[in-house]
Amino acid sequence: MRLSRYFLPVLKETPAEAQIVSHRLMLRAGMIKQASAGIYSWLPLGYKVLRNIETIVHEEQVRAGHIPMLMPTLQSAELWKESGRYDAYGPEMLRVRDRHGRDMLYGPTNEELITDIFRSHVGSYKDLPLTLYHIQWKFRDEIRPRFGVMRGREFLMKDGYNFDLTKEDALHAYNRHLVSYLRTYERMGLQAIPMRADSGPIGGDDTHEFLVLAETGESEVFYDSEITDLKFGDREIDYDSVDQCQAVLEEFTSRYARTDETHDEAEFAKVPEERRRTARGIEVGQIFYFGTKYSDAMGATVADAEGNKVPVHMGSHGIGVSRLLGAIIEASHDDNGIIWPEGVTPFHCGIVNLKQGDEEADAACEALYGSLTAIGLEPLYDDRNERAGGKFATMDLIGLPWRITVGPRGLKNGVVELTSRRTVDSEELPPEQAIARIAAIYGIATA
Ligand code: ATP
Ligand code: MG
Repeated sequence: MRLSRYFLPVLKETPAEAQIVSHRLMLRAGMIKQASAGIYSWLPLGYKVLRNIETIVHEEQVRAGHIPMLMPTLQSAELWKESGRYDAYGPEMLRVRDRHGRDMLYGPTNEELITDIFRSHVGSYKDLPLTLYHIQWKFRDEIRPRFGVMRGREFLMKDGYNFDLTKEDALHAYNRHLVSYLRTYERMGLQAIPMRADSGPIGGDDTHEFLVLAETGESEVFYDSEITDLKFGDREIDYDSVDQCQAVLEEFTSRYARTDETHDEAEFAKVPEERRRTARGIEVGQIFYFGTKYSDAMGATVADAEGNKVPVHMGSHGIGVSRLLGAIIEASHDDNGIIWPEGVTPFHCGIVNLKQGDEEADAACEALYGSLTAIGLEPLYDDRNERAGGKFATMDLIGLPWRITVGPRGLKNGVVELTSRRTVDSEELPPEQAIARIAAIYGIATA
């Protein structure tokens, strides 16, 4: 993309309404624009990152054997009356009436709708196990929408639902989700710690929340510092293996890590004092096992091997896709702007032309742009007629992890400058080598 042809409405001023750094930076970098309280338009740069996050979530869900689909945002109130949650959900649910006087609602979550689909089409234990998921907009009429996309009213969520014959199978599905979530967050450059949590209005027995540590987090958390040394890394997991998933769950949940809802001082005191930590965290996901709560209420049964009708065991599992943008920025920024992890960056690198209009500089930038594009990378070329200082400031603000700077002086010696946004280290090298380095960083083989 050439910046002169892109739509990147960066703001010079720091918006007064934004209280936390991720919200400020998303507004300043031209990623979002508030449409009304807690509801945002996703401008091109923000939309690009949102799509990257969504893609990682999809890839990791499919890798775990879960099946993508799409359910609507508007739901009939009937199903919610069946489950008993129409009245229980309260003012967070946005209720609307259609022209025929039928009660509808903008879905805050999808347990009812998916259970209805399941009971309409699945009748035998032979069709299990089954895990379906979608990535769809949700609406919760939060009393205090704030912090930009972190606590919106309309927000994008991945929600997945497992259907299993036995509690044992459903617990395997729970463990499988935990493993897939660990991988998902790590690919986004995040450390999200599974913590024992409280099940809230969804109901259920087993639940973990995934928290990203950040000063601006809304949850108070208590944990054993050893937990932050754990990395999932690039280990290969067989998601069908009960033992392998169980082992990962044990590894990542055996140390003390809880939100304030489940915090237990006596238990916490057993952690050696020098490892006890109290901090704040951002909830980026949650997994639940809730047994037969919805299948009992809504008659979702299957015939077991003996022909008896039994209610299925279920769980639901959510990732806050749009909230993740805020969480990533909270975890990765400096005074000059965002620092995108390579896994989610909107463009792979920036190209800054120090002297637009200079024949050689222009040609060198075009050549770099062409070569990077040809190997499947997406550079953002700042080809505007602007001062170098302004170009650097924009690149730093929008946070591309790598920048190639091209100017007449370097070109005389046959070099360009490659700069890491994170470390600010710069290196002069010939353009071909800069391309090879960037290709290697993104795992692209070049001849
Ligand atoms: P919270 O406690 O933050 O209100 P929740 O526990 O009610 O969230 P879940 O039902 O577990 O939310 O939804 C799954 C995920 O969706 C959460 O882990 C969170 O990342 C995200 N999420 C929930 N509410 C919002 C919101 N208002 N804005 C943005 N993301 C949200
Ligand atoms: Mg939650």
